[in-house]
Amino acid sequence: MDARSVMSDFAIETKGIGKCFGSVVAATDIDLCVGSGQLLALLGPSGCGKTTVLRMLAGFEPPDEGEIWIGGRCVSGPSVWVSPERRRIGMVFQEYALFPHLSVRQNIEFGLAKFNDCESRLQEVLRLVGLEGVRDRMPHELSGGQQQRVALARALAPRPEVILFDEPFSNLDTALRTRVRQEVRQILRDAGATAIFVTHDQEEALSLADQVAVMMDGRVIQSDRPERLYRRPQTHQVATFLGDANFLPGTATGDSVECELGSFPLMEPREGEVEVMFRPEDLILTAAEDGMGTIVERTYFGHDQMLRVQFQSGTLLRSRLVGCCRGLDTGQRVHVHVGTPMMAYPSRYGCPVASVST
Ligand code: ATP
Repeated sequence: MDARSVMSDFAIETKGIGKCFGSVVAATDIDLCVGSGQLLALLGPSGCGKTTVLRMLAGFEPPDEGEIWIGGRCVSGPSVWVSPERRRIGMVFQEYALFPHLSVRQNIEFGLAKFNDCESRLQEVLRLVGLEGVRDRMPHELSGGQQQRVALARALAPRPEVILFDEPFSNLDTALRTRVRQEVRQILRDAGATAIFVTHDQEEALSLADQVAVMMDGRVIQSDRPERLYRRPQTHQVATFLGDANFLPGTATGDSVECELGSFPLMEPREGEVEVMFRPEDLILTAAEDGMGTIVERTYFGHDQMLRVQFQSGTLLRSRLVGCCRGLDTGQRVHVHVGTPMMAYPSRYGCPVASVST
């Protein structure tokens, strides 16, 4: 089996790509694999190198090292360079980048110049994004969500191998963002498109992507399915970046760990001092006068509430409760139970990784 047939399993694959700007290592040793029709989110804090990776994929930035394969074809490598316009990539930017002086139809047709049957493809993508009724409108006559769909239609129209999204929803207000990103996901699914999108919003990444690659300091530090990433963060940093987390010191002995909340089985056998991570929604409180903790703060959010519980030792934990929590208010003593199988976490202090399951 030659290299090409191996690579053809993925719509996009990078092998050890990296980029430095002077002394700044923007991205290093990036290995990504995205299967055909899959959505990958590149998630990380500002400055971690997400956009640099996207720009290398698009061909706007030549990597210093490594290879990029798109649709089974090497487009960037030690002796290979395929220019951006020949990579069969569609781009959707944060600011949509629609031509303001062109109508919806003309914006979409822009990428279809080489198509013989331009009109039928135009109708097809307009139908896909649900904009048949506004084809002759100008961009300023559309809502933010509609403009985003035009940008998506324009990117999809020439049937690219991959679509790259650079923070595509950050210009939309909160209510619209949730709706538009679900629409975009459905459109990409219907089109069978492969996509990579960059975001620093963990909720967006977890709710949209089939796979999330978490970047920190120029590296992909964990890449996995959203559920697995959330339940099994491999470092303290990933655990906190993906959501709320409580950490308790513990002592691991083989396949169990002992900490202030009790004893728990470990997913992977460990020995010695570890940090055990508990998501707030996994901590269940029951009112009890002989309880081990006291509720010291209650914050109500409507759909749920966050309760801070202090133990006699001084330890503070956060518990997120959904629904009616009668009797659970500030000053109440409580028992704390771990409701669901918990995940492992590495200690910040170089201790072994502890994986907890029940
Ligand atoms: P953000 O979410 O803020 O857009 P990012 O994760 O996309 O950030 P990059 O834009 O890829 O991060 O930048 C990674 C690092 O490389 C940063 O330290 C940035 O300052 C640096 N960098 C990016 N482009 C250049 C450039 N053209 N010249 C010099 N440094 C650059």
